[in-house]
Amino acid sequence: MNNFLLFSCAALIAAGCGNNAKNSAQNNPQCDNQVSAQCCDKSAQQSDYKFLDSKEKAFDGFTVYWLKDNNGDHKFPFDLFGNVADDVKKEVNMPDGMPSSISAYLIKVNGKNILFDSGLGQKANGQLLDELSKIGVTPEQIDYVCITHFHGDHIGGMLTAEGKKVFVNAEVYVSRLEKESDLGKQDLAVQMFEQYGDKIHVFNFGDKLPEDVLAIDAVGHTPGHTVFQKGNLLIIGDLMHAAALQLPHPEYCANFDGDKEKAIASRKRILELAKSNNLIICGMHLPY
Ligand SMILES: [Zn+2]
Repeated sequence: MNNFLLFSCAALIAAGCGNNAKNSAQNNPQCDNQVSAQCCDKSAQQSDYKFLDSKEKAFDGFTVYWLKDNNGDHKFPFDLFGNVADDVKKEVNMPDGMPSSISAYLIKVNGKNILFDSGLGQKANGQLLDELSKIGVTPEQIDYVCITHFHGDHIGGMLTAEGKKVFVNAEVYVSRLEKESDLGKQDLAVQMFEQYGDKIHVFNFGDKLPEDVLAIDAVGHTPGHTVFQKGNLLIIGDLMHAAALQLPHPEYCANFDGDKEKAIASRKRILELAKSNNLIICGMHLPY
């Protein structure tokens, strides 16, 4: 978990200011061929980000649980991020791939269980229900599901292998933009809408969902990609797929990012939000 936070100043300079990291240089006017004090200051700031670092953590009035949905290890190769500059690869120094995960989160608050995304689903060997059972929560006990976006590793777990609804008592919250996009018309989403019917509620960015969960605009990865904030916790969905690369270099997009320009802007904005408000970040593909 801490690997990607341990960037040395030299690493950041080489990675962020390399002359073949074209996008990087464009996005960082401080970069030039000189090793500058500003770059060192910037590297110090990277460690200011706070990440969820345990399976379970108590906050003021609620507890969050990290639910690892993938079986075994999960890594993303550099190839997934387009043309990553050689010096960036060298400094990240993870030739076998960057650690990642497929995760979901549960918040227990005021006797309610709020699930954030649902993983791959049993059809694709998702572990979510086992993880929930380890903390004594059954699918029937989920009160709310908040969905960051409609990719299969986030809504696959909403349905059983037979295509029936898993969280039979849950109210489900989805972004209006996501629902109205092409992703909202794909089979998996359509099936989810059919199964959950009037239990599906549509939100706009800025809306407060049950138990004071705030829905924040993080579009780019998908048309309605949403980040959720509850107190000091920030659930960033797919804002980053390989934090080892994208935390120091938010300008690198995974191929999965539908609108790369918007994804980069959201990544920078949300990371800044987290840093300036001292929020604890958890994400669906952060290394477990
Ligand atoms: Zn994902």
